[in-house]
Amino acid sequence: MNVESMYQEIILDHYRNPRGRGLIEAPEGESHQVNPTCGDEVTVQVAMDREGHLHLGYEGQGCSISQASASVMAELAEGFDLATAEAARAAFMEMMRSKGDAEPDEDILGDAVAFVGVAKYPARIKCALLPWMALQDALVKSGAMKEGEK
Ligand code: ZN
Repeated sequence: MNVESMYQEIILDHYRNPRGRGLIEAPEGESHQVNPTCGDEVTVQVAMDREGHLHLGYEGQGCSISQASASVMAELAEGFDLATAEAARAAFMEMMRSKGDAEPDEDILGDAVAFVGVAKYPARIKCALLPWMALQDALVKSGAMKEGEK
C-alpha cells in the first residue's frame, strides 16, 4: 500500500469511527465554526485541568475531511499542554499551506499527517482546517490563550 492510500485509509477510519466525539461537561471555551462552501460545521469545547492539560470535546457534521480532521485533532490534542497544542496547530496550518509538498512531522502531528495530500486541493483545505480554527478560537474564548498569540 502506498503512502497516499494509507493516508486515505486513516482519514476514512477517523470519519467512520470518530475518536473522542461528544461535548464535555464544564467547557471553559467553545467555538462553532462553519465552512459554508462545503456545508461543514464543527463545535469545539475546551477546558484546562489543574495540571494545565487540555481536554476537549466536539461535535459536527459535514464532509469526511472536516469530520475526520476533528476526530484526529481531538485524539491528538487531548491531554496536551497549551504550548504543545499550539505547536501541533501551527504545524498543521503550515502543512495545509504547503500545497502538498510538506514532509510533516509525525511526532508532532500523529495521524494528522494523513491530511498532507488534502493540501493539494484548495477547495478542501478549509474543511481540514475548520476544527483547528475552532480549537484556537475556543482557547481564546476560554482565556487560556490571548487573542493574536500564535
Ligand atoms: Zn468539507
